[in-house]
Formats: sequence, C-alpha cells, structure tokens
Amino acid sequence: MAEFLEKTGLDVVGSPPGIEGPGFFATRLDKVIGLARANSIWPLPFATSCCGIEFMATMAAHYDMGRFGAERLSFSPRQADLLMVMGTIAKKMGPILKQVYTQMAEPRWVLSMGACASSGGIFDTYSVLQGIDRIIPVDVYVPGCPPRPEQVLDGIVKIQELIKNESLRRRNQPEYKEMLAKYGIE
Ligand code: SF4
Repeated sequence: MAEFLEKTGLDVVGSPPGIEGPGFFATRLDKVIGLARANSIWPLPFATSCCGIEFMATMAAHYDMGRFGAERLSFSPRQADLLMVMGTIAKKMGPILKQVYTQMAEPRWVLSMGACASSGGIFDTYSVLQGIDRIIPVDVYVPGCPPRPEQVLDGIVKIQELIKNESLRRRNQPEYKEMLAKYGIE
C-alpha cells in the first residue's frame, strides 16, 4: 500500500486523533463517525442560475469533487445531507427552499455559494431574497460572483471540518432547537 501511494502520489484520509500502540488503536466514537460523515457527503445542488454552472465545473474531471468523497449528488432531499444553494433565490422560491431543507434528515448542513445566495448579490430588488439565511440556517458562505471552483472546494473542506468536529449531542441540545425555532422549523 505504501509503495502504491508513493508511486501514484496519492494520499489517504488520516486516522482520527487517538492512542495507538503495537496492534491497537483507540479513539472516540464521535471522531470515527465524524470522519466517516465528512468523507461521504451527499450534496443536494439547489442551483438556480450562473453559480450552478460554476458548480458543474467543480464536479467535472479537472476539479473533481469526488476527491473529497462528495461526488454522489442527490436530487432527493431525503437522501442528502449537504444543501448547496447556488444562484439567485426569488422570494417566491423561498418556501420551496425551506421545504427542501426541512425534508432533509438530520444531521444536515448548508453551504451558500456566491453573492446571490448569501446576500441577494447585485439584485437588491423587491423580488429577490436578500440572503438565504433569512429562511434557513447556513453553515458556510462561499463569497464571489461566481466563486471559482477552488473556492467551492474550500467551502466543502470547511464543511468537512465542521462535520468532523461536531459533537454527536449538538443536535439534541436546546440551543440547536432554539436556533431552528427562530426559523420556524421544529
Ligand atoms: S453570485 Fe453572480 S454568478 Fe452567482 S448566481 Fe449571482 S450573479 Fe450569478
């Protein structure tokens, strides 16, 4: 295995922090679960405009989001754990976006890609939602109009870090439920 990695220049995901000795390795359950979740993200691309095109470039061979274990896109919210919102979200579309989010099972994360999804972008008009965080909680914002694929990948890595370090109890805590309640989500 070591020889193969050296020849190909590939790297493998490292072990979570733990204690090791001859013939054993001990770590925490939440670290193992975090590692597995972070490297098998199933994104749901909610793409409405030009940022979606940039996302297509991110998925294609040159940038290859599959390297991060996130190549399996889901167009069903029930089989997705990362909602990626890219593009202008009209106010009329807001309730649909919220419905998609609420149909996703916990644990779920949200990445807002580009100026439009994050703040309405240049469309400061009566019809455009001035940021998706007015209707759903957002974990990572990726700035730009559009962001380059490298930035999208950086956003994915930030989401992975969040996932790896999230306590298994976080979503049962009153603070988390309170935060969802502010968005009218039970
Ligand atoms: S942020 Fe820029 S590139 Fe992305 S959807 Fe808005 S206008 Fe298009």
